[in-house]
Amino acid sequence: MTMKNTSSQKYTHFVHEEVSLTTTVTEKPSKKKASIEEVLSQANKHFTLSKNESGIAIPELLEALIKDAVAQSASDIHLFPRNQTVAIQYRIDGSLYMIGQLHENVWRALVVHIKVLGNLNIAESYLPQGGRFQKSLDTKNIEVRISTHPTNCGESIVLRLLGQKENFHHLSQIGFLPNLQKAIIKVIQRNEGLFIVTGPTGSGKTTTLYAILQTIQTPHLNIVTLEQPIEYRMKGVKQTEIQEDGKLSFEAGVRSLLRQDPDIILIGETRDTETAKMVFRATMTGHQTFTTLHTKTAQGVLQRLKDLDVPDTYVKENISGVLAQRLCRCLCHTCKKPHQFTYNNKTYKGFRPNGCKACRQSGYLGRLPIAEFLVFSKEKFENLPTIEEQIFFHIEKGNLFFEDIQSFLETA
Ligand SMILES: [Zn+2]
Repeated sequence: MTMKNTSSQKYTHFVHEEVSLTTTVTEKPSKKKASIEEVLSQANKHFTLSKNESGIAIPELLEALIKDAVAQSASDIHLFPRNQTVAIQYRIDGSLYMIGQLHENVWRALVVHIKVLGNLNIAESYLPQGGRFQKSLDTKNIEVRISTHPTNCGESIVLRLLGQKENFHHLSQIGFLPNLQKAIIKVIQRNEGLFIVTGPTGSGKTTTLYAILQTIQTPHLNIVTLEQPIEYRMKGVKQTEIQEDGKLSFEAGVRSLLRQDPDIILIGETRDTETAKMVFRATMTGHQTFTTLHTKTAQGVLQRLKDLDVPDTYVKENISGVLAQRLCRCLCHTCKKPHQFTYNNKTYKGFRPNGCKACRQSGYLGRLPIAEFLVFSKEKFENLPTIEEQIFFHIEKGNLFFEDIQSFLETA
């Protein structure tokens, strides 16, 4: 799968987190709509608490930030206090980008506004707090998760943006190589066993699991999930969120779900022995089950399950497949430059990042998965691409920069 330039301003790229999203890059801020830089600069000069006065009102400022972050497919907005200023950063494709700064006076008013929206204690700034609020933007309903944290320079706030990725797709749009994708589909279409997706934080495990559910979903199946948080809303799937107050644990949630006559169960994460026990019970009682673990490799899953007191026989008899994946930054196809590199004493041709407006001068746009697939069955899957083969395929296609994945390649 390659990325195509459809015009100088509009381009389609496959991005793991925002699968096949079409992004429009505005070359110049239009006269009517102020750019985020202009909004921040105005707010720093003159801000007000209500929309009725001149200057930038605090609610307007927050709305402009959320709108801009969503337009740039950011997953989080970081508001990070430093001496007398507050840095604003977005996390896009897993990396943080500096957006601008706010004066501390604007910041104080903004913090109060965010806390009021999230029903947090506005007088408390020395203890971490968590909350949420909803924001409607055009056709999207964005859920904003607030996390405040005291630092030596003041309260750091991270706003996680959920719900902007309603248009997730079929497994074929994630970017796995064809043979790997075929093997995954074959295994999930057996409609039984436990399928585990593993990888470090931000490796796109949830996105892959949702693409898998999308692939096997039919109106005749009762699909139920337990998640923390619900990152995507999926039509026809009964999704439940684990509450942070501890009233509903993963373990109690699975126990209850089993009484809901499910066919397919997705448990967001198996993080403790009790949940692991319930995940295997669900599988052993004939439900197709999906979950994620937090390990670097597919083999690491076996050790992790041992640590969670799962007997070896359970593992052998119930797991259908383990997919260990990580996301690699994809080169920006608008500005990448040819480049030569040496690996194992051989010289290869590839591409390196450069930087342009389309990629915020970073040289990268989107991410793609590199995965290892362990299948637990008698059936053999021939020609499953190794990690090295996947990496070299993408280097030749100009999707990956050799130096970015060199260390990964050497440990694979
Ligand atoms: Zn570029």
